[in-house]
Amino acid sequence: MDYPIIQEQAERVCLQCGDKFESGRRDKVFCCSKCKNEYHNHRHRLYRDIRMRVVTSLNRNYRILTSLIMNGYTHIRICDIQSMGFNLNSVTGCYAKKPKSMDLGCYDILYSQSSVKLYNIHRNQLPVAKLPVWDGLDEDD
Ligand SMILES: [Zn+2]
Repeated sequence: MDYPIIQEQAERVCLQCGDKFESGRRDKVFCCSKCKNEYHNHRHRLYRDIRMRVVTSLNRNYRILTSLIMNGYTHIRICDIQSMGFNLNSVTGCYAKKPKSMDLGCYDILYSQSSVKLYNIHRNQLPVAKLPVWDGLDEDD
């Protein structure tokens, strides 16, 4: 049986530099290994930067909430906390409670949010693990 010869697209455009290149392989998308490495390095830097922006925002929110708790505040208007640099979208937990309010978390700090304020800001009580009492003797003794 004779199979038809399918002409593959011989000329491709490199994903990194945009130059045209000849390729016999169907899946080749870069003109050279340098372009391939630059493309993947750029992607990794981009994803790392996105992660770092999220972590930075969470850390800023955590510092602000910690400062409020340490100064005895349990509620604050949204406009006031936003003026301190708080990002309402950076949370580590979200629990819908009522139609008009949510319980949110930033690591171990929890708070409720309405359309105008954050309230019930408090540190979640972590369970205290009972540690074994050390008798001062090593196992080998
Ligand atoms: Zn290229």
